[in-house]
Amino acid sequence: MEIVKTIKEIRAAVSAGRADGKRIGLVPTMGALHAGHVSLIDRAVADCDFVVVSIFVNPAQFGPNEDFDKYPRDLDADAKVCEDAGADVIFAPSAGEMYPLANCTWVDVEGITDHLCGASRAGHFRGVTTVCTKLFNIVCPDQAFFGQKDAQQAIVIKRMVADLNMPLEIVVCPTVRQEDGLALSSRNKYLTDAELKDALLISKSLKVCARAIAGGEIDSEKLIGLMKSIISGGGVDIEYLSIVDTQTLENVSKVEGQVLVAIAGRVGKTRLIDNIFVDLNK
Ligand code: AMP
Repeated sequence: MEIVKTIKEIRAAVSAGRADGKRIGLVPTMGALHAGHVSLIDRAVADCDFVVVSIFVNPAQFGPNEDFDKYPRDLDADAKVCEDAGADVIFAPSAGEMYPLANCTWVDVEGITDHLCGASRAGHFRGVTTVCTKLFNIVCPDQAFFGQKDAQQAIVIKRMVADLNMPLEIVVCPTVRQEDGLALSSRNKYLTDAELKDALLISKSLKVCARAIAGGEIDSEKLIGLMKSIISGGGVDIEYLSIVDTQTLENVSKVEGQVLVAIAGRVGKTRLIDNIFVDLNK
């Protein structure tokens, strides 16, 4: 497996693969890889013949008071994970390689980025959609793989690809969890043992919500109240706890059809997100 750091090199590697008739898969990540990322690489290896994992802590998607500087970075460990998972090449550019000039051009998906994480992270999704557009233009993948863990991100990227007729398919893979329910995240590394216990309340509340919906409760206010009763008293400071339409990301008063139950909260200084997708049509 190759590790390349320049746009010229990744373009050459992908062109060689494409010349051999290979189907190109891209897994965009910020590194600090865990089993959640591996599940995306596994799916890419299953669906494609040539798999690129990008590792780039994208400064454009972090706010001034966020964790850009302390975000975990370990390219050697990540390279081993990618190699074991069967990726063909890692693209790990520097910020200077990706943004050689102060950007004048941004990709902004409107409306759906105002809700959930977008409400508190000004400019975050503009950074995500811009860097994904750049990665899609650099790698030209047939498919790109994203996690349901970042549900709003996946919805925003899918919408951008549809709105701008980008010639690739977005594949969304299920959230990988620890056995106790905690959704895997690179930011879990920040948590102390006591905070890890508090963080469990997030996935627990989602599980209870799913059970209540399966039991016939469809009133969003009651479901949110139920989740809050589980979380309150623990060490989670809730940023939002919302039941939203999966297309518009606007709050719904009743659970009908497909909805997203999404939560963000701080445990200590660490901001965590999690969600479940509910489909009552099934
Ligand atoms: P990140 O490195 O956090 O930017 O994540 C890169 C990709 O991995 C995104 O598409 C995430 O949604 C996905 N991802 C992160 N955590 C998980 C998880 N626990 N399960 C599945 N996918 C995940």
